[in-house]
Amino acid sequence: MNQQDGVIKYQLQFSEYALHAEQMPFFARLNEWRQILFRHDLIGCHADRYEGAGYGNISHRIGNSREFLISGTQSGHLQTLQARHYARVTAVDCRHNQVQAQGQIEPSSEALTHDAVYQVDAQIRCVMHVHDPLLWGCAEALALPSTAATIEYGTPQMAVAVAQAVAEGCQRGVQLIAMKGHLDGIISYAESTYRAGEILLDMRRSGVALTFS
Ligand SMILES: [Zn+2]
Repeated sequence: MNQQDGVIKYQLQFSEYALHAEQMPFFARLNEWRQILFRHDLIGCHADRYEGAGYGNISHRIGNSREFLISGTQSGHLQTLQARHYARVTAVDCRHNQVQAQGQIEPSSEALTHDAVYQVDAQIRCVMHVHDPLLWGCAEALALPSTAATIEYGTPQMAVAVAQAVAEGCQRGVQLIAMKGHLDGIISYAESTYRAGEILLDMRRSGVALTFS
């Protein structure tokens, strides 16, 4: 179970609230990219992967605030998401392992990790967490900043480790990290959804070239 997404490990304060996509100008593009990642099997749900648990999630900062919109927990099997499949994270207290959110679905189990990325740099507006065996397998060859193999997904320790790896990535101009303690776990981040997606797909092409050359 330790390698799977889907099990929320933080304390959640959740309130029911209907989110309106039209109030969020970035929503259409975010959701479009979520679909592209789904088509590439970078977000999804398969009986033969991770014991059938859904995997991967995507988020976007709301305005210049610390709040962000994130795909809901256990939504990986859905080909197309609607606004009701996203939750708005309104506060995160990493030290006490607490998340506050609202919506019609609880936020991804990796909301703490997404928050940690946003805290590194105010310019970061989109975070994509995907599962990619190929890229994860060549993380060292591609010199990707990484979290340690002993650190599990969805924990405050992972949030701290991700922040360190992202800070290293920002210094080196690498906007993609590997989570070694989370099987196939990769995170890309950028100032826009398009850039985060492009960085991820470009790095995959480098991984393919490395693996099959
Ligand atoms: Zn994951």
